[in-house]
Amino acid sequence: MTRFGFIGLGAMGLNMARNIAAKMKPSDTLHVFDVAPAQADLVPGAIKASRVSEVAANADTVITMLPMGKHVSGVFNEIVAAVGRDGQKQFIDSSTIDIATSRAVASKVAAAGHRFVDAPVSGGTAGAKAGTLTFMVGAPEIEGSLQVALELMGKRLFACGQQSSGLAAKLANNYILALTNLATSEGFALAKHLGLDLATFSQLVDVSSGQSWSSRVNNPVPGVDANTPSSRDYENGFAVDLCRKDLLLAVEAAQGAAMDLPLGKHAPAVYTALSEAGLGKKDMSILYKTLLDHK
Ligand code: NAD
Repeated sequence: MTRFGFIGLGAMGLNMARNIAAKMKPSDTLHVFDVAPAQADLVPGAIKASRVSEVAANADTVITMLPMGKHVSGVFNEIVAAVGRDGQKQFIDSSTIDIATSRAVASKVAAAGHRFVDAPVSGGTAGAKAGTLTFMVGAPEIEGSLQVALELMGKRLFACGQQSSGLAAKLANNYILALTNLATSEGFALAKHLGLDLATFSQLVDVSSGQSWSSRVNNPVPGVDANTPSSRDYENGFAVDLCRKDLLLAVEAAQGAAMDLPLGKHAPAVYTALSEAGLGKKDMSILYKTLLDHK
């Protein structure tokens, strides 16, 4: 029998917790908490807790899915202050946060006799709902109760190494994504200005060296692919604000590792401008549209 806990039931966490509730064994339990209490009512079969420490007290494996490092820090200050040393508990943090905070929280939790694993995800809300997330795990191996918990929510699990290496993988991947989206949006805007037929150009790129996830799966040109956010007015995709957040975290991580990221000096300003133009909730590929508007 496993006693699961879940803290942070937002766009991602609610779907992840629902998958745990739906797939766990009949003898398992799931204890949930969110600062917005109504969110906990949306997880059928879960036991609603009235505070974070109650989840930690009643569960052996607790997943957190919170917005930023300050939220993770605050939640674990409360957990560490309240949790005893009877049996080792496992805390899996799937939030995308800064590496320094994750390391600091991990050592506090370890000092209290428990385990803290960073396990950020890719796959977005669609992957969270379908239970097909990819987990990037800050552990040398994924086995036992860690594997059991992650497989309730995801399909692909990558053991990235020591604590915080899951976050390192997530931030490096999303750095590539942020820049690929930028290059793809600019490239397609250039093609349009040069008078190319974009349906043909898109097919060409997809079998040529300019292809990427941004051209194949998330093409920025409306109508090229009916399934992309660009074909639904850039709604329900990977939000500009989240892309900007991850990009800034990647740049911060590079600074922490005394590394220079030349493009990282310029790219955040592009996404900041989109945000300031009121496009923060739109899919990141809306950059293409704004490039057409500003010839
Ligand atoms: P969200 O804002 O929709 O959800 C966060 C939830 O945490 C909210 O329900 C909020 O009420 C709750 N919360 C905040 N502080 C809390 C506290 N102290 N105790 C308990 N609950 C608290 O965010 P999201 O889109 O679900 O993203 C969560 C994390 O996952 C972020 O780090 C994000 O970068 C990452 N992520 C998001 C996506 C995505 O597509 N949305 C994809 C991959 C990773």
